[in-house]
Amino acid sequence: MTPLALALELDGGSASIEVDLPDGPQPAEALLPAMYAVDDRVIAATVAAQPRSVTCRKGCSACCRAQPVPVTPAEARALAAWVDAQAPARRDELRARFADRVARLDAAGLRPRLDGRAPPRSAADARAIAAEYLQLGLVCPFLDDDACSVHEHRPFVCRQYLVTSPAEACTDPLARPVAVVQLPIRPAHALLEATRNCDEAPPRTLPLVLARVHADTAPAAPRQDAARTFTRWLSALAGGRAGDPPIR
Ligand code: SF4
Repeated sequence: MTPLALALELDGGSASIEVDLPDGPQPAEALLPAMYAVDDRVIAATVAAQPRSVTCRKGCSACCRAQPVPVTPAEARALAAWVDAQAPARRDELRARFADRVARLDAAGLRPRLDGRAPPRSAADARAIAAEYLQLGLVCPFLDDDACSVHEHRPFVCRQYLVTSPAEACTDPLARPVAVVQLPIRPAHALLEATRNCDEAPPRTLPLVLARVHADTAPAAPRQDAARTFTRWLSALAGGRAGDPPIR
């Protein structure tokens, strides 16, 4: 591991953080702990600087109960590996939950619409797919007693989805608008950019419930120099604010 000190330039001021980067050629998922640390720091600073309170609370799990939860291919592999590393009883329980969610997607004919084989043709089509998905009520396999059992390793989208509107609206987000904290970085998008042309998959996310399938069926992740991948990720994070990078 190589320590790396970063200075974060944020709207509310600056912040520093030190992360450990793995050495040499690595799959992108090996960098997720460092990326999540940067993301968490930016989120904390952004939330502290914004006027509206976050209404998300432990025990409020509406967003874990019905939404597709898009994850990057690297996150899908990391979550699948995390499941495989659990004690046998827990591992088998989680694998069974993933299998159940995939079977229900298949029964509804939705899997090709979500795994890239038959992507939405328009915004209206995407909205119809989201509505169908919501109706299935596919609870995240990691949700236990209304709490995230993989909290430390939860994907970017779960870290970044911070609601400021009343929690009741989250139960039907297509019918009732949900207000969220506007964050200055898009780390999942940046990871897709950082692994473009070197990752095995097209640069798109997939629903968390398909993580197991993706990890089992996609070719092994290519490895590239970890420092280079991380630098590319930082550059992509800064891409939305050319000339004013949030991180340097
Ligand atoms: S990974 Fe955790 S936070 Fe994300 S949807 Fe699943 S249970 Fe919820």
